[in-house]
Amino acid sequence: MQNQEETVQIHIKSMEKTVNFPVRSSEFCKRCKGSGKKDKRPCPYCCGSGSVKMLDCIRCNGTKLIDNGLKCNVCNGNGTLSEVETREFLSARQFCENFKKNPAKTILVCLACLVALAICAHIFSGYAFIDYRLIKSWPAYISLIVGLCAGFYVLVCLNKMNKGSYLPQFTKTIISIAIIALWIAAVAIPGPVTGRYCWIESQAKDIISNGISSQGISCNKVKVISSDSDEYRAIADLSNGEIIEVNIHYKKIYAHNHKINYSIDVVPVDRNGDSSNGE
Ligand SMILES: [Zn+2]
Ligand SMILES: [Zn+2]
Repeated sequence: MQNQEETVQIHIKSMEKTVNFPVRSSEFCKRCKGSGKKDKRPCPYCCGSGSVKMLDCIRCNGTKLIDNGLKCNVCNGNGTLSEVETREFLSARQFCENFKKNPAKTILVCLACLVALAICAHIFSGYAFIDYRLIKSWPAYISLIVGLCAGFYVLVCLNKMNKGSYLPQFTKTIISIAIIALWIAAVAIPGPVTGRYCWIESQAKDIISNGISSQGISCNKVKVISSDSDEYRAIADLSNGEIIEVNIHYKKIYAHNHKINYSIDVVPVDRNGDSSNGE
């Protein structure tokens, strides 16, 4: 037993054991400039000690090289990793091992997150593109928070894949680009591209349904076809099979309190007389 040698104990979940890593050297902590404090709290990088314990790289065991004589890409050929980097690597490695065991689960969870992100982008865009004040309402807040959390989870998975996977760098880059492209598409397509009128369309649908309910019919769907500032031209599908063209006018009402006030008028377009609504 070498009692003099300083070691760091790290629990390796996948091996279900705790491993003692001998400390190779101690380095001055650059994050807190050796003070051990960051923002008046103990520095998370050196745990408040001001110095960082360097351990043998867990992938190359300090040899700086991997399998086919290539430079180790975990420690960048330094042979050592800090305690924090070792823990991060082990957590990312765990993620990759879980993925290998059950890839369908991780893929489904990430796809579900992307769908949640897309739905939230759709809802949020419906508020943001009509009136910026509407994004201060709770449906907009909730969709923003839920969407960001779901999207963030996908990026965390991507980061773990990049850190902990032994795939060649080129393959990892291709996977990363594909996931980021999906992420951007999940925001852009249901959001700014197709979702910018979703809120006004649902409001107009309710207004039309209310207006024609006495005739025993309702409105199934409203689709905005063009817009000019607060004026929207739309097509409404009625439950009796009729399709009518309407003008939707959104009016901001400024209130002294923090409440959001607005009014929405929906007027059918009279094709014969070509008279449209005044206000
Ligand atoms: Zn520090
Ligand atoms: Zn290494």
